[in-house]
Amino acid sequence: MNLLIMGLPGAGKGTQAETIVDTYGVKHISTGDMFREAMKNETEMGRLAKSFIDNGNLVPDDVTNGIVKERLAKADIKASGFLLDGFPRTIEQAEALDAMLVDLGLKLDAVINIDVNPDILVDRLSGRFICRTCGATYHKIFNPTKVDGVCDKCGGHEFYQREDDKPETVKNRLDINIKQGAPILEHYGKLGLVKDVAGEQEIEKVSADIKVILG
Ligand SMILES: [Zn+2]
Repeated sequence: MNLLIMGLPGAGKGTQAETIVDTYGVKHISTGDMFREAMKNETEMGRLAKSFIDNGNLVPDDVTNGIVKERLAKADIKASGFLLDGFPRTIEQAEALDAMLVDLGLKLDAVINIDVNPDILVDRLSGRFICRTCGATYHKIFNPTKVDGVCDKCGGHEFYQREDDKPETVKNRLDINIKQGAPILEHYGKLGLVKDVAGEQEIEKVSADIKVILG
């Protein structure tokens, strides 16, 4: 089984990816791992990627695509299948992926799309706040202070948010992700491969729904 998993930051993609890997024995291929492995093993593309990174430059698409192709060409993929996570990020990368799958004689079976209302994600991702006095961190949904507005640890009353945790920053990050993801979902939607999963449910329920889809 060859799969893609998509979902906005905070949608629970990582957790579901782990469950899919455990259940179906497919190889989890995340972009970060692939880069680390390629650079460590000094593959042709790994060396190229490293030269860009060492010079403080972004790795161009053709090198990223090359790293994915090197990974997908390995024997374990044909034997076990794959779950691609974090790739493709753009429609150009999706088209490159289609071409390399044809080259490698592989076929995509489904694109699992963990669907969560972005407004809920803003709440989840922007909830972190920090005590100004002692630095204790809280989350307004997942880990609130016992008494509203009072730090559990030091009794302080002043809190702040990191720039990255502010609702506006989070919203911008999500908007960029939505814009990038839309054409990819449209592309695979036309091929009948996109399987939407309601990601707002309990983690176990989301996993169960994925299991129904994948069989
Ligand atoms: Zn405190």
